[in-house]
Amino acid sequence: MKIFFLGTGTSQGVPVIGCRCDTCRSPDPRDTRFRTHVHIEMGDSNIQVDAAPEFRIQALRHSIPKVDLVILTHGHADHIQGMDDLRRYCDLREEKALPVYTNEDGELRMRSIYDYAIRNQPAVKGYPAFGLHRMPRTLELSDGIVHSFDQSHGDFETLGLVLVERRTGKKLVYFTDCDSVSDAAIERARGADLVVLDGLRLKSHRSHMSIDEAIAVSRKIGSVRTYLIHMTHEVKHAVSETQLPEGVRFAYDNLVVEL
Ligand SMILES: [Zn+2]
Ligand SMILES: [Zn+2]
Ligand SMILES: [Zn+2]
Repeated sequence: MKIFFLGTGTSQGVPVIGCRCDTCRSPDPRDTRFRTHVHIEMGDSNIQVDAAPEFRIQALRHSIPKVDLVILTHGHADHIQGMDDLRRYCDLREEKALPVYTNEDGELRMRSIYDYAIRNQPAVKGYPAFGLHRMPRTLELSDGIVHSFDQSHGDFETLGLVLVERRTGKKLVYFTDCDSVSDAAIERARGADLVVLDGLRLKSHRSHMSIDEAIAVSRKIGSVRTYLIHMTHEVKHAVSETQLPEGVRFAYDNLVVEL
């Protein structure tokens, strides 16, 4: 299993427009963050988890050859606004609609933004086509299983994901945009080869985990390897990293991890 971190920043990205802080002016490439989204290869399946506004740039950079299914964790702008660019992957599927698994809120946002594309086939060749599906608790794919959990994200709900690859038994945990993690999700996450957690910033926040809260969740899971995502410009990679405990690191854009 392989995870491509296509973006690791919060909704405004880093640098923040017009900001002159240390992080926003940093020459360290790890301090430039697109909006959070990842691509996962599980066996022969290419799974796109969210599509940020920069999805197209990153699909080109990483030469993503195909997308078999999309999981939209929730309908916030930073996670949904790149979805029109999935049109090329519909084309490559011979115009079969791309399955999109999401929750109730994600479905409502999909219908309001991409009404023209929710259909079995593209309206016109080259247009996107999305088949909407409610994410089940357990999604069985030929290459593995995706477990999902409803997670609190302020007034919203997000899908937390635990992926288990069939051929290798490797386990990947992906909990983005959540202010807490349930005991059931922690239980399912145990023994993971890699844990990816929302770790917004040092100070607490009503709809995201702070770095300390994410570290506590990582400990509860018993994770040996954790990457934090969705960081604001308050996190300057090289400086903030020195305060992280062993086994916990900040992810950064274009990091690729093979499990
Ligand atoms: Zn800044
Ligand atoms: Zn969100
Ligand atoms: Zn977000």
